[in-house]
Amino acid sequence: MPRIAVLDKHKCQPKRCSLECHRYCPGVRIGDETIVIDERTGKPIISETLCSGCGICVHKCPFHAITIVNLPQELEGRCIHRYGTNGFALYELAIPREGAVTGLVGQNGVGKTTALNILFGKLKPNLGKDAPASPDELNDFFKGSELQGYFKRLDELRLSFKPQPIEQIPTIVRGSVSELLERVDERRVKDELVQKLGLQDVMDREIKNLSGGELQRLAIAAASARDADVYFFDEPSSHLDVYQRLNAANVIRSLAELGRAVLVVEHDLAVLDYICDYVHIIYGIPGAYGVISNLRSVRVGINTYLEGYLREENVRFRDESIHFEVKPSFRSISFTKIAFNYPQLIKRFSGFELSADPGSIFKGEVVGVIGQNATGKTTFIKMLAGEVEPDSGKIDLNLALSYKPQYLRMNFEGSALEWLRSQVGEFNQAFELEIVEPLEIKPLLDREVSTLSGGEMQRLAIAACLGRRADLYLLDEPSAYLDVEQRLYIAKLIRRVIEGREATAFVVDHDLLFIDSISDRLIFFGGKPGVRGRAFSPTEMRQGMNMFLREVGVTFRRDPQTGRPRANKPGSRLDREQKEKGEFFYVG
Ligand code: SF4
Ligand code: SF4
Repeated sequence: MPRIAVLDKHKCQPKRCSLECHRYCPGVRIGDETIVIDERTGKPIISETLCSGCGICVHKCPFHAITIVNLPQELEGRCIHRYGTNGFALYELAIPREGAVTGLVGQNGVGKTTALNILFGKLKPNLGKDAPASPDELNDFFKGSELQGYFKRLDELRLSFKPQPIEQIPTIVRGSVSELLERVDERRVKDELVQKLGLQDVMDREIKNLSGGELQRLAIAAASARDADVYFFDEPSSHLDVYQRLNAANVIRSLAELGRAVLVVEHDLAVLDYICDYVHIIYGIPGAYGVISNLRSVRVGINTYLEGYLREENVRFRDESIHFEVKPSFRSISFTKIAFNYPQLIKRFSGFELSADPGSIFKGEVVGVIGQNATGKTTFIKMLAGEVEPDSGKIDLNLALSYKPQYLRMNFEGSALEWLRSQVGEFNQAFELEIVEPLEIKPLLDREVSTLSGGEMQRLAIAACLGRRADLYLLDEPSAYLDVEQRLYIAKLIRRVIEGREATAFVVDHDLLFIDSISDRLIFFGGKPGVRGRAFSPTEMRQGMNMFLREVGVTFRRDPQTGRPRANKPGSRLDREQKEKGEFFYVG
């Protein structure tokens, strides 16, 4: 059985430990060089040949820096890339197929970016050895698979890439939106993409002045405008509302319809389902290793991912399967104490008007907020909290508000611990137990804020928001950059905290599965983005989803096996039937 020993170099702190890994290793005790201490770094080097896999070092290390993994026999010799001795290892690879959209779904930290970089030609795979593999070695390695031809042609293939961290685009690309699109428009489709992705109003704007959602749509347009054989889209949904997600999905799908190969990494399962023909599951231990599964059809692939068990490979990669519950109707939930009522409210800015219908909010409930971007969602919550004064309607609730903003651009110089303290003060035990531990924040605390990934920053920002005592919590797009498991876990955590404190939370998000999991009721925002918005009174889930999806023009059904909401293909029999009945969100 192949065994790997992985050392997390961020976590390993030899100056703050007693080298327990080395002291207690049975191999070292009998005089073998199972672990030697690197003279230069002071960190251990573990011999995978001599290691017996006893796991003593794993338990003795005070910083949980070592992972020992026994891999299935089938993975022997299937390592695609390894980041040095005792580094992260990736096994197997995704296959971009001509004329199809292939998805990659799995936890963060198990090698999706490594896989994309290899397929994009940015990272030369080393097949687990010390040096990059030669063309002949790659040819032998992939013999008989579709990837053999892919790597043979890699130098000639035209490739286009939409990166994940779109916030960094303004630091790399200067000029206006139209200048960038002009430069990359190899397919002469700029005008069509601008219209489909709704970029008309920002064409003259400098890229550095774009919002996250605008940057995302620009990045998708720029990648799609290239004349490529293979397109890569790394998390194209973040910061887009549902309407924009579906438009982006249609643009990406149209590339496959032209016969091009498209590979998409995406955590919004409804979008992944809508966009893909095939799915690879990627699983493993974050930071230690990742394995890319065989290709599956999209429905089977997503259901298998939720089940946590790869039947054909006979691998269980998660102890529990994920199932989506159909919520009981709100009346049967025991919310009895009203937190506050609010009257009809109106707020006008130059060129924009928001009108909110009256409503009552209960203690302990989580209200999902859905609707297109720029329809006044944040303004509404700020009016409730007294931070924005309405032009019509009186509101005097005196509520303490804790807010997690949508965009996490943080110019903070210092560690995550310093940043978190600046937000919540000194930690107490309750904060550690209730928030820090479940969100797995501890391993991040010593790191500089500037080195955190989008998902790590998101978890930290959620911890800060929940760490403040408030009556009303507003979490704006908490699912961005989190993987599917983190999304569902955080949905449960937020519900538990809000219920326990008898507070109220408004959660603005565009991942319908996340909203479905977290919300007790919904507030739907209709209107014309940037011109007028209307906040309807809080409604039950089904009614709210129906109102919203009717506006977007998309119908959803539930998958019978997992209970997850699935978008119907436009014009399909189910789509037509549900539209006729007015059941846009079918929960039966
Ligand atoms: S692995 Fe753990 S015990 Fe070993 S040197 Fe690093 S921190 Fe210390
Ligand atoms: S798993 Fe056991 S044998 Fe292997 S390095 Fe750790 S302590 Fe030594």
